[in-house]
Order: sequence, then C-alpha cells, then structure tokens
Amino acid sequence: MLRFEILTLFPGMFEPVLAHSMLKRGQEKGLLHVHIRNLRDFATDRHKMVDDTPYGGGAGMVMKAEPILRAVASVRADAQSNGEDIRVIFPTPQGRRLTQSYVQELAGEPRRIVILCGHYEGVDERVRLALNPDEVSLGDYVLTGGELPALVLIDAAARLVPGVLGDPQSVVEESFSESLLEYPQYTKPAEIEGIGVPDVLLSGHHEAIRLWRRKQALRSTYLRRPDLLRDRLFTEEDRRLLDELMNEGLVAAPISCREEG
Ligand code: SAM
Repeated sequence: MLRFEILTLFPGMFEPVLAHSMLKRGQEKGLLHVHIRNLRDFATDRHKMVDDTPYGGGAGMVMKAEPILRAVASVRADAQSNGEDIRVIFPTPQGRRLTQSYVQELAGEPRRIVILCGHYEGVDERVRLALNPDEVSLGDYVLTGGELPALVLIDAAARLVPGVLGDPQSVVEESFSESLLEYPQYTKPAEIEGIGVPDVLLSGHHEAIRLWRRKQALRSTYLRRPDLLRDRLFTEEDRRLLDELMNEGLVAAPISCREEG
C-alpha cells in the first residue's frame, strides 16, 4: 500500500480531490492511504501560532519550525511503532523539477511519504536543515501553497500503483514512459467538423496500428520535446521510423542519436 502523510494548514483542500475518481478507488481498494494532519494541532502556545514575521523584516509571514518538526516527529513515531520508516518531501519552487521517473520511484516507496505543505512566504529554513527532505518543484512559477503540489504527487504516484487504474496497460503506453510523448488518441465519431480519423486506426490491423503509434510518438516528441530524445538509444525500428518521418518531410533535420547496440 502506498501511504501518504500530509502536513498542512488547510486540510479541507484535500477531501474534494481524494473523494473522486481513481484516487477514491485506490483508497477503497486498500492500495492508497492518505492521512491528513493539521499542522495547527502541533502548535503548543495559547494562540496555536503556526507562522510569524520574518527575522530581518520583509513582507508576509513565515511558517514556524517547531509545529512542523513536532508533526514530523509524531508521524515518525507512529510509523516506527508499526516497524515502518518515513520519507519526507517538501514541495518548493526551489526544488528539483518533478519528473515521471521520480513519480515512478515514489509509487514503489515502502516508507510512509510525508509531504510538508508550505504556505505564506515559505517555511523557516531550519526545517529544511533539520529534515533534509526531497525538495520537489512543479515548475518555474509560484503557487500559494504546497497543497496542490502534494495532490499532484499523490495523483501521479497512485495511478502507477498496480490495481489503481482499470487497465494496467494505460501506464505502459503513455507520455514519458520510455521518454517519449504519447501518440494521438481518437474516439467516436469517425468524423468531426470534416476531420476524420487516420485510416490505419480503423483497419483492425494490429501491427500496422502499433507501428503508426510508435511513429507518431517519435514525431510528437521530436517536434514538441526534442530534449527527451537527446542521448537516447534508438532501436533499429525507431531509426527506420524516424527515417520515414524525415523522408515524408514530417520532421525536419536528422536527430543526433545513437542506435541500440
Ligand atoms: N517565498 C517562496 C519562494 O520564493 O521560494 C515561495 C513561497 S510559496 C508562496 C508558498 C509554498 O507554496 C511554498 O513553501 C511551497 O510549499 C509551495 N509552492 C509554491 N510554488 C511551488 C512550486 N512551483 N512547486 C512546488 N511547491 C510550490
């Protein structure tokens, strides 16, 4: 079972997402467990203070270290009493960019995954120094808090846990599996506003469909995310499909790539 422990000042942000679709199903099937803890419960002063003004002055409030460290200690003690360990993640715009390979690693994580949701101006630096968490960024922009990144992490990892999605094949042939973007998908009707569906998809010829999809995946990746193809080892088949794309003028220049040995 994939277990998350969320530390947040806004527990109410999670329920609406966790109560739907695959995340709901994953929990019902016992494959996913998400425990939400309110950081305010770990503030010990009379006013339950969880934030304070920054030393040195400046705008906004900073989340205090002690309630967070207490919350993490409490999760750790809980886990240890069950013979488990924890892994702490801090979503931050300063972290390393979230990737599918990181998400794959999380999906197989046997430890409880603690996600610390920052808010306001951020978190007292001593939390980072004391916990040495994985620092993960969703991208080069700033959100109001770590709650949405936490939900993104839960969603992306949970769908890779066998049994959460209806069809296990879905995660095999999608974007970023094998560092390729996915091929284009079509569903009924066969024509919309004069735009049809590629004939091959209606042919029932499984091998031709497989080759078409592979070629389209290579083309999409080449045109949209050439960085994913850099230093990639291509199979002989991929090389041939890329040559076809070039001869058809569908991709412009040869890709500098190596062939699989
Ligand atoms: N002052 C901080 C800075 O400049 O790095 C940003 C604080 S942000 C308003 C509040 C919280 O939102 C952060 O502590 C982090 O948990 C979360 N957050 C904001 N943008 C994020 C991003 N791109 N990726 C991951 N987490 C993010």
